[in-house]
Amino acid sequence: MSVSSAKSQHPIRSTRSEQLLVLGSSLLVIAILSIVTFLLIRERANAELSAARAANNIVQLIDADVLRNVELYDVSLLGLIAASQREDLKSVSPAIRHLAYFDRATAAPYKGNILLLDNKGDVIADSASVEPRQGNYADREYFQSHVNNPDPGMFISPPFRARSPEQDWRISFSRRVNGSQGEFLGVAEAAMRLSYFDQLFNSLSIGRDSTVNLISKDGTLLAQQPHLAEELIGKNFSNRPNFQRIVKEGNGSFTSMSDRYKDKRLYTFSKVGNLPLIVIVALSSDEVFAAWKRTAVVVSFATVALCVSLLWLTWLLCRELRRRQSAEQELAQLAATDPLTGLANRRTLDQALRHEWFRAQRSGLPLSLLMIDVDHFKAFNDRHGHQGGDDALRWVAKVISTHVRRPADLVARYGGEEFSVILAETDSAGAQQIADNVRAAVEQLPLVGGDTSSITVSIGISTWTTASDISLEQLLFAADKALYQAKESGRNRVVCAD
Ligand code: GH3
Ligand code: MG
Ligand code: MG
Repeated sequence: MSVSSAKSQHPIRSTRSEQLLVLGSSLLVIAILSIVTFLLIRERANAELSAARAANNIVQLIDADVLRNVELYDVSLLGLIAASQREDLKSVSPAIRHLAYFDRATAAPYKGNILLLDNKGDVIADSASVEPRQGNYADREYFQSHVNNPDPGMFISPPFRARSPEQDWRISFSRRVNGSQGEFLGVAEAAMRLSYFDQLFNSLSIGRDSTVNLISKDGTLLAQQPHLAEELIGKNFSNRPNFQRIVKEGNGSFTSMSDRYKDKRLYTFSKVGNLPLIVIVALSSDEVFAAWKRTAVVVSFATVALCVSLLWLTWLLCRELRRRQSAEQELAQLAATDPLTGLANRRTLDQALRHEWFRAQRSGLPLSLLMIDVDHFKAFNDRHGHQGGDDALRWVAKVISTHVRRPADLVARYGGEEFSVILAETDSAGAQQIADNVRAAVEQLPLVGGDTSSITVSIGISTWTTASDISLEQLLFAADKALYQAKESGRNRVVCAD
């Protein structure tokens, strides 16, 4: 056993705590990143949800407003039909008849005119003037529909461009006027200008890049807010996949790439009552997630800074641990070593001897112990001074070390000019061999200034075997006794205990 191997457990323990530290902080960093990622994903979903909710509110608001207006139109149409069938009104002046036919509530600026047509499609009453306009509307889809269908229910036309000079988009509501026998007498028709939606959409506040759109069921864009481009109104979008999906689903919302704006948009849409119209609120994803993005950037930076600081602190701590570890190692080395010779000291010797003793007990292999004492060292010291004595001790230590080379063996300074050697798994003959070599080699050391004889050592050997059955103390005592015998019998010799 070498001196260094006596302390080899220390670095292993420190390395493990370092590994634990790195593992712990890595897990912490992973946990922080996971939690932050989870929260950001959830926040993003929340932003999308509340945008969809707000858009849905807009859609519902428009829906409710339109339905209320359609009801008003219907009330006006029913009033017109009822009034037109009253005999007493036929004899009053045209101005009074006009007042009775048309309700003032229908005169809002964005509303089209209300007309009463006879069974040929000619205008017989006009809300715009007491003198009805000249015109025939028999070619209109709604007129033909009422001619062929005795059902007196309201007919809602697809959007069409008005004949008036403005040529604006309109949609018409109409009812058939039946005679007492159910015969076709004509049609009461009211038109709604779709610019009504512009006025409605105007009052809504949505993002700069987002739009509210009114689209007819066949895909024609009828109104848009904010007005992006004039040429878009009246354009047909029925071939666009997003529009096809909206028509198919009727109500709902989804996020998709805009074919026109080439960005991601959140589409929320609903059919307007039972009209052939669809309101679509298209919110730009950039706007929906703008606030979230700002938060995400700040939170991400803060999180990365936190994680980097954590890892940096861990690195500092690991470095400090390593420093301490090497300081501890140095201290342990110093505590285990004899400063003069660099050999193991008495403390290490005691530990190693106990260790090897128990090992030998378990394995049953022999264990030998050498006790080496420099001869007449007091006299040597007197001749060459303490410094010279110290040098001599170093030489002797070096000679012993060069002859004891197996890793499990240990050379130690027992104290003063005495050395001990533990020879693990070595029997008495092997120990004798080594002792002889040491003794002979010391004798070969060069003569020190003025001396006539060289430095010599006496060596006592004791060996434990399974057959000997002695204690550790007895082993030590036997080696001491053998050394004493070597001294007694003339020094510079090796004596093996019985
Ligand atoms: P013996 O042959 O019977 O062993 O005689 P000895 O003189 O070697 O024995 P003794 O025990 O009388 O003397 C040991 C001497 O070793 C005493 C001391 O001066 C010297 N000595 C012990 N430790 C050191 C040391 O660290 N350095 C030096 N220079 N001398 C030491
Ligand atoms: Mg001595
Ligand atoms: Mg001596």
